[in-house]
Amino acid sequence: MLPARVARRRAFSGLDHIPPQGGGQTATITRGMPELPEVETIARGVDERIRGDRIEATWFSEKREPFKSSPQLMAAELPGRRIARVYRVGKHIVFDLEKSSLQWIVHLGMTGRLLVADPATPVPPHTHGILHLTSGKELRFVDPRRFGRMALHERFTGTGKEPLLITPDEFAALFRHRRTPIKAALLNQKLLHGVGNIYADEALFRAGIRPRRMARYLKRVELDRLLAALKKVLLEAISLGGSSVSDYVDAAGVAGFFQLEHRVYMRTGLPCLVCKTPIRRILLGGRGTHYCPQCQR
Ligand SMILES: [Zn+2]
Repeated sequence: MLPARVARRRAFSGLDHIPPQGGGQTATITRGMPELPEVETIARGVDERIRGDRIEATWFSEKREPFKSSPQLMAAELPGRRIARVYRVGKHIVFDLEKSSLQWIVHLGMTGRLLVADPATPVPPHTHGILHLTSGKELRFVDPRRFGRMALHERFTGTGKEPLLITPDEFAALFRHRRTPIKAALLNQKLLHGVGNIYADEALFRAGIRPRRMARYLKRVELDRLLAALKKVLLEAISLGGSSVSDYVDAAGVAGFFQLEHRVYMRTGLPCLVCKTPIRRILLGGRGTHYCPQCQR
């Protein structure tokens, strides 16, 4: 049994180090329902472990769903390529390949995980892809529910703007003519990529803006505040190694501690941390939406 502090740090890091078994070693990188900060953490973790490594061979499962490009195409294109860099675009993990415009793209979906493993470590059930690397390591893609995807792509940029890089002018322009609630606009992946439900609710609370406000009627000063708040919550979460509330229990059984950091998300009926008004929950575009009726206008 780990001391609680160690266990917490472990869960925060987004990297569960499973102790070596029979010489095998695995770094499990991710858990359920990853949002942008988790994907960023995972991409960084994978990059640290396998950047510069060369793909020697590949293995792909017989299932159809995980493949946006055919397994045959990936098996033909990937071997022999060196991994130049691994990074995040929206909620996609992008593998740049040296001397190639091709990229290998992984989307984790709901339950996808990437494992950097020693070949001696038993291959877990629901493994759909393995890259065998020159270093001897294996990169494994495991996904029980099969909402995750693997693909080959050229110069992948995603569909929307990157919330951590967008300028205030670009941000304001996104919403100028939007006749939708600001919360829905924040979640629209064609506008911004990778902003999920938790971070939309938390950013709107910090900016003091009601989720139901029509995007086009927000004042410039409010949009500037919203962008600053959005960047802040995303960077905070990245610095903590990402947070995923559902099933947030690590190997040592420490549950749900990151919820303490949430000011409105999943705090329905609890007093607002600023004004003590009970936090309200509504459905907006089918998504549970949490806000303080006093602090958010
Ligand atoms: Zn309040």
